[in-house]
Amino acid sequence: MPWRRTRDPYPVWVSEVMLQQTQVGTARPFYDAFLARFPTLASLARARAAEVLEAWAGLGYYRRARHLHEAARTVLREHAGRVPDDPEAFGRLPGVGRYTTGAVLSICFDRPLPVLDGNVARVLSRLYALRAAIREPGGARRLWALAGSLVPMRRPGDWNQAVMELGATVCTPRSPACGGCPVRTLCRARRLDRVADFPPVAPRRAPEAVRRAVALIARRGRVLMERREGALLAGLWEPPGVELANGASAAKSLRTALASLGLRARLTRSGQSVRHAITHRIITAETWHGALTGAVPRSARLRWVDPPHPRVPLTALARKLTFSSAAATTFKRKRS
Ligand code: SF4
Repeated sequence: MPWRRTRDPYPVWVSEVMLQQTQVGTARPFYDAFLARFPTLASLARARAAEVLEAWAGLGYYRRARHLHEAARTVLREHAGRVPDDPEAFGRLPGVGRYTTGAVLSICFDRPLPVLDGNVARVLSRLYALRAAIREPGGARRLWALAGSLVPMRRPGDWNQAVMELGATVCTPRSPACGGCPVRTLCRARRLDRVADFPPVAPRRAPEAVRRAVALIARRGRVLMERREGALLAGLWEPPGVELANGASAAKSLRTALASLGLRARLTRSGQSVRHAITHRIITAETWHGALTGAVPRSARLRWVDPPHPRVPLTALARKLTFSSAAATTFKRKRS
């Protein structure tokens, strides 16, 4: 991987942030495209937030992009554009946690700091037959302490990458390749013939079911989009909509949401829904055809968007919605 062939902290940092919630194969093309667009930390720091979100579109978990952007600006402003090699200073940057600090500073600056991700936790739990789950606070504490006690003073970055790689390629969740494992003679779980018992499985939180009503409003092949505000997906665009409270009328709630944007429209239920899973939520978006009965106000929060060439960062739900059969019907109704 290109990020394993450099010790330049900027690309290593970008890769670590991308890989936090994204598989290597998925992240790779985004990584290449992101660095082609923002080749240096200074170019990222000077970019507009919308450009950064656009480059991130499709990777999800947009808070990572916002934090990375803010952090690049902070490095430019407070550290003369040089990524700080001090764990305290680096760890204070937006979005930088213990894992990112350990990964970037051990790989790029030989700081003997541990990393702990799912792969490392699995390897350590099996090697030491330790019943500690990374998702549980007590388990994470024990695993961090163990990881910290093992990091060597020499080439700590190579060590961290080796353990992560071992977990990703040999000591995999199902069917680990113990026969070819370089640490098999040290592995307690293998000696006890209890590999499958480690790490213990922590109960997963059940995803929350969310109902949403969305208005599909089209004009000359473009769809009206709203820029999201608030904690979740702020700065990304999607067709105007509203989350529905239990038992709430979708039509009424959607009309109120449109009115708050200065929009008036005749709404017709399309009869089609789009399902979308995000973090811990499963969203069912009921789609409504919207025919404007008034002008669209001038507002930085509203924009007509051409779905194949959006020029603004869209949410994944927006992409699903605009290419759904409900949207196709909206376009057809608009033409007829
Ligand atoms: Fe994992 Fe098997 Fe190696 Fe133990 S011997 S670390 S269980 S791959």
